[in-house]
Amino acid sequence: MATTGSARLQGKNAIITGAAGGIGFETTYLFLREGASVLMLDISEKALQAAKAKLSELLPTHSGKLETQIVDVTSEKSVASAVEYLDAWGGLDVIFNNAGIMHAKDGDAVDTPEDIWDLTHNINVKGVWYGCRHAILSFKRNKRKTASVINTASVVALVGSATAQLAYTASKGAVLAMTRELAMVHARDGWRFNSLCPAPLNTPLLQDWLGDDVEKRRRREIQFPTGRFGEAVEIAQGVLFLASDESSFVLGHDFVIDGGMTKAYITAE
Ligand code: NAD
Repeated sequence: MATTGSARLQGKNAIITGAAGGIGFETTYLFLREGASVLMLDISEKALQAAKAKLSELLPTHSGKLETQIVDVTSEKSVASAVEYLDAWGGLDVIFNNAGIMHAKDGDAVDTPEDIWDLTHNINVKGVWYGCRHAILSFKRNKRKTASVINTASVVALVGSATAQLAYTASKGAVLAMTRELAMVHARDGWRFNSLCPAPLNTPLLQDWLGDDVEKRRRREIQFPTGRFGEAVEIAQGVLFLASDESSFVLGHDFVIDGGMTKAYITAE
């Protein structure tokens, strides 16, 4: 991976939630490489420390700041204080609301436990709403004429998963609809909202969930015309585009990065 960029995010201040995980980590790397200052938020202190150490190995020098904060996105107070912290940097320009879970006990309409439904929605939907709400307050406070919000949905917001994961699917549909409406409401403010729809990836979120269940894995792999899961960095490249001014006329978009999965008519393995 290239360690020098072309300053596509020079001078921008960014927050990434779930920053220590697969997509979050790769996005942090690209944002830093392109000149942004990044505040990494994650619920896991251990993962944040490991991510920061790995970043300083991969990218020993960068022009922007890099800081971490332990934040559970279901706590509005913590999300608010992380966003307000960036006022000291000159205010927020970009937020990537990316933290999300898919719980092992997620299932169909009958067997999904209610506490798993609530937990999934609290993180995947309410957490994104809090990020958007406090980003908007920050854009107002700091009189931003342009800004970018990227919310992580999923291809399951667009197509039904044949292997049941109902709480997750419904939560990602909510992210898609919420993002689209925010894009319309704030279009004239210059604050762009887009959602990201990744296909199944090689990250712990999915790979841990699939584990050694061969059938569950096979049912997903055969969906790809490319014959493979995506890599987190392939999603991060899309986030970089949406965060940069290169996408200045892109808003309310369901940005699908899926190796052709949602366009495929699979007839054989
Ligand atoms: P990951 O599990 O590698 O990373 C998720 C990160 O979020 C972890 O570091 C975790 O500690 C953090 N996190 C979990 N709960 C949190 C909370 N309450 N507050 C703050 N941080 C929290 O997952 P990933 O694959 O990088 O997924 C990132 C996003 O992409 C998620 O929203 C996920 O739903 C979505 N997504 C993933 C896939 C996939 O196949 N991996 C596909 C489509 C969409």
